Amino acid sequence: MPNTKSKKANGGQTKSRASNGSGKAKTSNSKSSATTDQRDTKLAKFFEDSLKDIYWAEKHLTKALPEMQEAATTQELKDAIEKHTQQTEEHVSRLEQVFEILGKKAQAKKCDGMEGLVKEGESVVEETDEGSMTRDAGIIVSAQKVEHYEIAAYGSLVQLATTMGEDEIAEILNETLQEEKETDELLTEIAETNINWEAELEGEGSD
Ligand code: FE
Repeated sequence: MPNTKSKKANGGQTKSRASNGSGKAKTSNSKSSATTDQRDTKLAKFFEDSLKDIYWAEKHLTKALPEMQEAATTQELKDAIEKHTQQTEEHVSRLEQVFEILGKKAQAKKCDGMEGLVKEGESVVEETDEGSMTRDAGIIVSAQKVEHYEIAAYGSLVQLATTMGEDEIAEILNETLQEEKETDELLTEIAETNINWEAELEGEGSD
């Protein structure tokens, strides 16, 4: 636990030891990073916790997405999920890069939000027929909920990083944010051009 709070009126310039122990200035040389003081605030701690959360979420997805891919009906959706699995692996390593810049060990903290979203996706698979377009329509809905969660998470992290003067980190996280947005758009496109219509034609669902 970091500091034994002595409330400061000036918003965080408490000045104590460097939070990463070594007092070593940044590892990057081109882009600007926060000062050691900026890395020792409550906001910085919150930021780090949020990183651990999304780190867990991304790692969880690297396992969940291949199952979704397997369960999907159309090749088009399978391909989209496969592509995003590869991106997700990249998202994991970008987060590791961010931890490294901060001089912290990459640590995952269970993300209840993502756990719940993945569970929802699994029940969609359970509740729909194998080989049906309704299943694909449902998988797309679940996948988009996941993307929206990630877009919210990364969008906030980019803003926080910028606020804290962590420009290099903001840039790295923004790359991921853009990929999440592209995936979301691609899923919309797949659903709208094809799958939802065909699912609609599957008719009545008695089981
Ligand atoms: Fe991701």
